[in-house]
Amino acid sequence: MLHNQFMELPFYIMFYLIVAFYGLCIGSFLNVVIFRLPKDESLVKRASHCMTCGTKILWRDNIPVLGWLLLKGKCRACGEPISKRYPIVESLNCIVYLVTFAVLDFSLQTILYCFFFSALICIAFIDWDTQEMDLRVLLCIAVLALPDVVLSVIRLVSENTFSAFPEFITAGSLSLQDHLIGLVCIGLPFFLIGEISKPIIERKFGESFRAIELGDTILMAAGGFLIGWKATVVSAFFGICLAAVCGLVLKKINGESKFAFGPYLALGLFLGTLFGEQILDWYIAWVTYDPTQGI
Ligand SMILES: [Zn+2]
Repeated sequence: MLHNQFMELPFYIMFYLIVAFYGLCIGSFLNVVIFRLPKDESLVKRASHCMTCGTKILWRDNIPVLGWLLLKGKCRACGEPISKRYPIVESLNCIVYLVTFAVLDFSLQTILYCFFFSALICIAFIDWDTQEMDLRVLLCIAVLALPDVVLSVIRLVSENTFSAFPEFITAGSLSLQDHLIGLVCIGLPFFLIGEISKPIIERKFGESFRAIELGDTILMAAGGFLIGWKATVVSAFFGICLAAVCGLVLKKINGESKFAFGPYLALGLFLGTLFGEQILDWYIAWVTYDPTQGI
């Protein structure tokens, strides 16, 4: 673990400051993605601008979180409020990166997981806003799985070649079965539930939607392909529980029974990726524990 490699405190602080910096900067980019992707606007073509008056935002006002705080949440040109969501997304991404590096080893896998969590933040906010998922973001998640899938194939062919790679690359690597079962273990049941529910919902309510939308299904398939089956099963459990509880609360508040599933699945995937394997191992040990056998 990183904690053993750099026991010196200055290294520690330096490392986490760099992680926080990247977290904030990438968080700032996520705002652009969340706002522009649903409108099919280019992510790079137009510089950041005020949503009310269109004035280009100065570089110093564009510093993550700090820029918003210094402007007291108002546009420098027209004085109209700038959404609180910008600093919230930036800080959220920063905190997620810090937690990830505090929990997992410092490895290629962990860096890819950080990008995965950033994609999840985009998915959660876009789904919350539009009740739709962007296929391009979902595709990015599947692409993030490829380095470790290639590595797992190398391990399958030759264990020696695999162990010749530096530890930074191989730490936290999953087996090919892990990835492949991860791809289908939740994705497939979600797809089947969606398919079966569609005609039933159509007959009962006269509306054409599925109990579990295709976007949610692809999210769990792509996520499962990246993080392996154990983490995926736990993620789905967390996601469904969170959605059930929050769905009931939301229904009480605004009487709406249809809501975005994505934010809950995203939170479930985040927790499942960080703690899923330990939770599942602990659970299996608990249910298979035989007191007559001793410890
Ligand atoms: Zn303005």
